[in-house]
Amino acid sequence: MQQKSILVTAPSGAGKTTLVKRLLSEFDFLEFSVSATTREARENEVDGVDYHFISEEVFRAKIEKNEFLEWEEVYGGSFYGTLKSEIDRIHAQNKVPVFDIDIMGAMSIKKKLCNHVLSIFIAPPNMEVLEERLRNRHTETEEKIKTRLDKAHSELKFENFFDKKVVNDDVDRAYLEFKHLITNYLGL
Ligand code: 5GP
Repeated sequence: MQQKSILVTAPSGAGKTTLVKRLLSEFDFLEFSVSATTREARENEVDGVDYHFISEEVFRAKIEKNEFLEWEEVYGGSFYGTLKSEIDRIHAQNKVPVFDIDIMGAMSIKKKLCNHVLSIFIAPPNMEVLEERLRNRHTETEEKIKTRLDKAHSELKFENFFDKKVVNDDVDRAYLEFKHLITNYLGL
């Protein structure tokens, strides 16, 4: 765990997953850290690729066995966690893990990995754009959208806790800035 890692966090809907996916498709030496979650898989999501989809019972057993670097109950009822085994798996391949996780989880990973991690906060240009993006996904109910917006509002206050911030105003521009931060950090 003493090697370098990349931590990407944002309020839901800020576009971090799009940036992370683009990054991973460009650089083979970066590897996505597959989190465990108890939420249902969405259409197109693959077990073991997007997440390890597990039951709450299995998740709780893993908490007991201290298998998580961090875990959170992110949205009422759903658990998400970063498995220590993922980091070991990625480092064993001499690759750099990329964490795409929520803000509270990112804060605990940053504390645990200290100066072995570059933490990047992806910010939406404003709350209106964030709301529009969440609605356009058509994956959440109205109630869930409201919960995510309320949460995003309070999460924006944590942006200064992280090493770098990228405003996702235009995805191509934001991607270039994001990529440069990472290549600089890795000395490329
Ligand atoms: P979604 O359900 O949209 O895939 O993810 C919901 C939120 O959970 C996102 O902010 C996502 O980044 C976060 N998340 C994904 N994996 C983890 C994890 O391992 N730990 C924590 N704390 N949050 C995670």
